[in-house]
Amino acid sequence: MSSVAQTQKIIFQQEWGQVLAQSLRSSQQLLTALELQATDFPKGLSQALSFPVLVPRPFVERMGKGDPRDPLLLQVLPLAAEDQLHPSFSLDPLGEQESNVATGVIHKYHGRVLLLAASGCAINCRYCFRRHFPYSENRLGRAQWQSALNYIAQDTSITEVILSGGDPLMLQDERLAELVAGIADITHVQRLRVHSRLPVVIAERLTDQLTDILTGTRLRSSLVLHVNHPRELTPLHAERLAKLRQAGVTLLNQTVLLKGVNDSAQVLIELSEQLFNHDVLPYYLHVLDRVQGAQHFDVTSAEAYTLYQQMLAQLPGYLVPKLVREEAGQAHKTPLHAF
Ligand code: SF4
Repeated sequence: MSSVAQTQKIIFQQEWGQVLAQSLRSSQQLLTALELQATDFPKGLSQALSFPVLVPRPFVERMGKGDPRDPLLLQVLPLAAEDQLHPSFSLDPLGEQESNVATGVIHKYHGRVLLLAASGCAINCRYCFRRHFPYSENRLGRAQWQSALNYIAQDTSITEVILSGGDPLMLQDERLAELVAGIADITHVQRLRVHSRLPVVIAERLTDQLTDILTGTRLRSSLVLHVNHPRELTPLHAERLAKLRQAGVTLLNQTVLLKGVNDSAQVLIELSEQLFNHDVLPYYLHVLDRVQGAQHFDVTSAEAYTLYQQMLAQLPGYLVPKLVREEAGQAHKTPLHAF
């Protein structure tokens, strides 16, 4: 059995892996599950062959039946609008291939480095800024892990390692523990940050073993969830996130502002309140990265700033995320100001 097949076999033996294995993998499966027809989408659907449909069933269960405008559905269903390319939307909107300094390593910002710990995800989000990223050239096997760790060890300015992907929590816990131990061996690294959407769509991924990995290290650990809509959170999230928080893991959230999904002050305010009820602090509200295929999700900067002002007027400051745009070549994310 190949190592990829072996890894999949181990993942599918775990509860969250079994849920993942049952995911829906076509638009037709999604439409059937939600009692919709292709004709409910007058502008049509996309074939999306290069970035196929992938949606775990628990996420589908949070969608409304018979509603073609459901905000969770719109994040995963390929619409024909994806195929209408726009000149200001590119394959690599953040210029990441420039910062791809070693296999699986992106070094953009001072003091922080991104490790692409896994190339797959549990869900294919239509707005994903890495939907065209050359993952096949950045697959981290054990040998590449070591060269990625060597890169970090040689740069003493790096104090924080960010596990990204794909989705880093696609790694089985044993491999994740091994990677975290390798990072903790580098004395100048102080913090570990894990960015993941997997636990949002499959809450069972928040295992006790994951808590142990994030707390059983000398590194200060944070988990940044990627929740875009309050309906994505469930009672199981509340239970599992409370355990992580009580164990000492800092829980943050980043949201992508998406037309038709969450471009409403009411939805964003409810999201911030729900996150806090789940022990998670809102961290970033990102305007869309202008990636080819996601143009129909774009919210203008002026509209985004208006929404942000409405949040400021109605929420305590600690529940208002920073409104930012990421720009290729910049030394940090760019805060959005008045227009
Ligand atoms: S989970 Fe994140 S990396 Fe994966 S497809 Fe969605 S947005 Fe992209």
